[in-house]
Amino acid sequence: MALCNLCEEHEAVVWRRYSGVRLCKSCFTQSIEQNVKRTIRRHAMISKNDRIALGLSGGKDSVSIMHLLNQITENRPDIELIAITIDEGIKDYRNESIPIAEKNAKQLGIEHKIVSFKETYGYILDDLLVLTKSQKRRLKACAYCGVFRRSLLNRAARELGATKVVTGHNLDDDVQAILMNFMRSDIERESRLGPKTEPRHSKLVARVKPLREVPEREVALYALLNEIEVHLGECPYAGESFRQVIRNWLNEVEVKYPGTKYSILRGFDKLLPTLKEKFGHPPLQECKYCGEPTQYKVCKACELLQKLKT
Ligand SMILES: [Zn+2]
Ligand SMILES: [Zn+2]
Repeated sequence: MALCNLCEEHEAVVWRRYSGVRLCKSCFTQSIEQNVKRTIRRHAMISKNDRIALGLSGGKDSVSIMHLLNQITENRPDIELIAITIDEGIKDYRNESIPIAEKNAKQLGIEHKIVSFKETYGYILDDLLVLTKSQKRRLKACAYCGVFRRSLLNRAARELGATKVVTGHNLDDDVQAILMNFMRSDIERESRLGPKTEPRHSKLVARVKPLREVPEREVALYALLNEIEVHLGECPYAGESFRQVIRNWLNEVEVKYPGTKYSILRGFDKLLPTLKEKFGHPPLQECKYCGEPTQYKVCKACELLQKLKT
């Protein structure tokens, strides 16, 4: 491969087709750090004395953002990092990724907490799917999992006194979600997608996505080049999701028209203020079963649990 376009000294390890730039290992790593710092600054994602709870699955995204944040906040004694792993109870998947999450947190000296579906809801995800199948009310696995995971991560973060929740969503994740919501005509959900979700209730913790401008393959490359151990297995339920179809299609378009993913994100960011204005922020109340904040009388997690019981 050719020389790095930045330092013109070392051999390039990556060619960014969307910008035409080739980078060596060290310049690439620096550019990822700068990318994340820029996103944090642009959206004021971190403030003084923040206690940041990081949703840590053990996969490349969450492990990489933990390493990046650890480095970025190195000289910020006022900022605290804690990692939270949600154990959904997916066989042959979580039992492999949790030890990797633990190992990374320990290596960086970051406090690590594991919370499980089983302890909280009395079910593991695999049980939930079997149950729903037999009841002919089979929702897609991801819909269940997403609802419970989001609710649980917020609850755990709040109980740990966190002021922010960081998730490992990368560029591809967000662009997929933007398209999916649009294709389902769910514009209200679209309006809640941005880089930072301000809490609409005292029981909600603000959520931020510092990796949202880093393409998925660059997150993977960052972990690989920096010898960060990550769990590479894919969720066994991933294959059946709508997201997978969009993901493959987007990658094809990106190959033919480099820069499309960034372009979709930029377009969305231009629309976002208008969407937020249009859909506003309906006041939230507390779920009559679990007390978690929700737009309706019963939160989505409890609604799904109730459906299972009947
Ligand atoms: Zn270089
Ligand atoms: Zn509830």
